[in-house]
Amino acid sequence: MSAIRLFSVSGISVRVHYSLFIILVFLTWVFSVQEYPYGFKGQENAILLSALASLSLFVAVFLHEFGHSVVSRRLGYSVREIVLFVFGGIAVLERQPRGFKEVLVSLSGPAVSVAIALVSYALSKTGIPVVWEFFGVFYRINLLIAVFNLIPAFPLDGGRVLRGLLSERFGFERATFLAAEIGKGIAVFMAVFGIVYNLWLTLIAIFIYLGASEEEKMSRIEAILGRLRVRDIMTPDVKVVTPDMTVEEFVQFVFKNKHLGYPVVDDGRLVGIITLHDVTGRRGDERIGDLMSRDVIVLSPDDPATEAFRIMNETGVGRIPVVEDGTVVGIVSKTDLVRLMQIQEVLRVG
Ligand SMILES: [Zn+2]
Repeated sequence: MSAIRLFSVSGISVRVHYSLFIILVFLTWVFSVQEYPYGFKGQENAILLSALASLSLFVAVFLHEFGHSVVSRRLGYSVREIVLFVFGGIAVLERQPRGFKEVLVSLSGPAVSVAIALVSYALSKTGIPVVWEFFGVFYRINLLIAVFNLIPAFPLDGGRVLRGLLSERFGFERATFLAAEIGKGIAVFMAVFGIVYNLWLTLIAIFIYLGASEEEKMSRIEAILGRLRVRDIMTPDVKVVTPDMTVEEFVQFVFKNKHLGYPVVDDGRLVGIITLHDVTGRRGDERIGDLMSRDVIVLSPDDPATEAFRIMNETGVGRIPVVEDGTVVGIVSKTDLVRLMQIQEVLRVG
């Protein structure tokens, strides 16, 4: 995922996705064309207030995610990072909290949003020029974030609260299935309702529906891959190429080894990754080092196997090098995972 690291707070790195900058401009525009109390249309400094509001909105989203993170930590789940992107934010946890702990973690974000809304509401009643107008809009937005997130549908917080509650009784897997089905039902209802009243609702409903299906799939995969580590599923014998190899040599290499992508290794160190796709249309004497992509996602042998699946799902990358102390020790490919899943399914059924 192409995200920039912004800063780090108590060991949690905070990154923003590039799409955020586009959405900031878009939101500024939205705020400036909407009438009060949902925007600043027709007011003095409308653009300035709108820009400030869209920036503050992302601070609010960050605080929401930070709320999830703090409670997760308290309950013993380490938080890897917070990523802010076009739909808001996510706090990435090492492990998925279950049962009642999931309920608490999921409620903490909306609780922060409600708190921001309350403070903003108070400020909107001060009567101080500009301040009251700004917070009049801002408290409504934060209330909206809280309410929206509490809709009981994956991947929203409300869906997780629902799963947490259901899993106390039905167990995690069954609860995920039930919560996902309920979420999909709500999404379908919202979509139809949206077609009649407001198409934005339909768009959001599609987002929820896809999220619910994704969550269902991921939890099934998690159940199958279980406690396996990357070490257990990787192909240890990796074919690598060097940056000084020419395109012509590389193409021959691909024919011989029959994979589409290879790690590029210089002096034992991983420096990039090259695929057949990268060299198509290139001259035969060009060097791999100039064509490879340097932005390589890697796994550690100790990462959970599900991490490999998550990365492939999110980025579309088909092969991930496994690196230990800077050295490539293996590779995980989509085919490896699919095959492994099939084996485990058969074993489970049998
Ligand atoms: Zn949340």
